[in-house]
Amino acid sequence: MVTTSAAPNRRIWTNWAGTATASPAEVVSPTTVDELQRAVARASAAGMRVKALGSGHSFTPIAVTDGLAVAPDRLRGIVSADPATGLVTVLAGTTLHELGPALWQLGLAMPNLGDVDVQTVAGALATGTHGTGARLGGLATQVAGMQLVLADGTLYDCPADDLPAAAIGLGALGVVATVTLRCVPAFLLHAEESPAALDEVLRDAAAFDAFTRAHDHAEFYWFPHTRRALTKRNDRTAAPERPLPRLRRAIDDELLSNTVFGWTNRLCAARPSLIPRVNAVAARTLGAREFVDRSYRVFAAPRRVVFRETEYALPRHAVREAITELEAWLRRSGERVAFPVEVRVAAADDVWLSTAYGRDSGYVAVHQYVGSDHTRWFDAAESILRGLGGRPHWGKMHSLTADDLAGLHPRFDDFRAVRDRLDPGRTFTNPYLRRVLGD
Ligand SMILES: Cc1cc2nc3c(=O)[nH]c(=O)nc-3n(C[C@H](O)[C@H](O)[C@H](O)COP(=O)(O)OP(=O)(O)OC[C@H]3O[C@@H](n4cnc5c(N)ncnc54)[C@H](O)[C@@H]3O)c2cc1C
Repeated sequence: MVTTSAAPNRRIWTNWAGTATASPAEVVSPTTVDELQRAVARASAAGMRVKALGSGHSFTPIAVTDGLAVAPDRLRGIVSADPATGLVTVLAGTTLHELGPALWQLGLAMPNLGDVDVQTVAGALATGTHGTGARLGGLATQVAGMQLVLADGTLYDCPADDLPAAAIGLGALGVVATVTLRCVPAFLLHAEESPAALDEVLRDAAAFDAFTRAHDHAEFYWFPHTRRALTKRNDRTAAPERPLPRLRRAIDDELLSNTVFGWTNRLCAARPSLIPRVNAVAARTLGAREFVDRSYRVFAAPRRVVFRETEYALPRHAVREAITELEAWLRRSGERVAFPVEVRVAAADDVWLSTAYGRDSGYVAVHQYVGSDHTRWFDAAESILRGLGGRPHWGKMHSLTADDLAGLHPRFDDFRAVRDRLDPGRTFTNPYLRRVLGD
């Protein structure tokens, strides 16, 4: 979000989690691609850096700029759609929240989504946003075309050779103007959520594999200091729509997942010694539920309790060891963590900077409530997950540098070569990109 601060003519931008702030020299909200081109060309000719803002839902300072900030709010909507091929071109600032119903009207859908939908299409793609599904890739695997505004204002229609770089471009190659997505026919999901013993899903690598492969979209939340999990399984269905009654949805998604969850987190932040008992109660009392609804309504839910997060993608077979090591560290250290650890999966893909590049992946995401210090927990998790060959999510907190990341991403240098070609003057850089990509 961008707000005007008390100081005259200065605008302060803060991300959702409050982990990054910026004071851009200028903010523009272009309404057309042409206006966007002119704004970028003018700023770079004046020697300013340029950064496009999304919805501010990255935890890293990836969107920070002291130069020109390009706000996404007026570059939104579907430009063209072909229901026969499923190819849909959207303006970069379109939010996933508005895209779901708009695609539904066309008889189309995104095959997979993350767990919130407030992100812009370009912002979600830039950091490698993913959902869960053993046979499905992250959002970037759905990209069929992209137009970038380069530093001199040129509109660059990415050729096929550049798409594997541009689909997860970290905002480092140019400002995305439009994205063409490969959509699928609209579908309903049969959603089942239920508490389970952790061993049911993670007894051994085969149990985890069976759990994730048995469903189109499977994930679980592990409650630290317990051996309990909440499982979520979503499968495509031809059954008729049977959404949750409005009241039940409000109770589950607003009251329990946000309001009560917020209270318990505040209580736990004040009295950490209560956490093991609170988590044990939460893990057993979170109710089972089952419904059938439109895919985009099932994938995403509101998240109003502010938290911090780090997430690593591991070779899928290493997930069990990761949870075992995290559990052992919590026992050894005495650290108390109330927020559940989220485990998801994705299929291997060929997007150069994808965390799932070339390998079937399991994601382990570690969170901490905004009112509690996350440092020790995140440092420990990073050390454990890195030790298992993990690659950090580009939009979630981590401490890795270009030298570390070059060893984790086989096409890292190829990406940097595309960056050298498309942004030789580094108009689109910022301190985060200097850290993770180099100068
Ligand atoms: C509550 C919450 C839930 C989340 N859930 C998930 C999840 O389920 N799965 C997952 O993988 N991640 C998840 N994330 C992370 C989130 O999806 C990513 O960080 C995503 O990048 C945020 O999108 P945004 O629109 O907010 O982009 P921002 O965070 O605002 O920006 C991200 C990057 O995109 C660039 N960018 C934005 N627009 C453009 C453009 N037009 N051209 C070029 N670059 C551009 C920015 O410059 C920046 O570099 C979650 C984050 C939060 C806070």
